[in-house]
Amino acid sequence: MATISELLGMTTEERAAISDETILDMGYGIQYYDTQNSQEFALMRELNARLKAIKAAAPTPQPRPQSAMVACDCGHSVPATQRMNASMGTSCPDCYDRMSA
Ligand SMILES: [Zn+2]
Repeated sequence: MATISELLGMTTEERAAISDETILDMGYGIQYYDTQNSQEFALMRELNARLKAIKAAAPTPQPRPQSAMVACDCGHSVPATQRMNASMGTSCPDCYDRMSA
């Protein structure tokens, strides 16, 4: 967490390097910081814009999609992501060597 005066002493590049977590941590201060100082005001505008962008980009947690089971030529069924293409047809990882013969 950085103080406002520390932030003012940074270049735009240095501020851009501040982690999203830090910006979020400072969110309350950023949103409600009250100042008449134009430099500070510009800084708060910059940080507020970043805060909004971070919040907008925050991934909404989604349940991991269940991979559908598919039947392979080896005779087994595996999640589609695990199906492999062997020379003798599609194969589960366990049968790949046999199916590649
Ligand atoms: Zn198999």
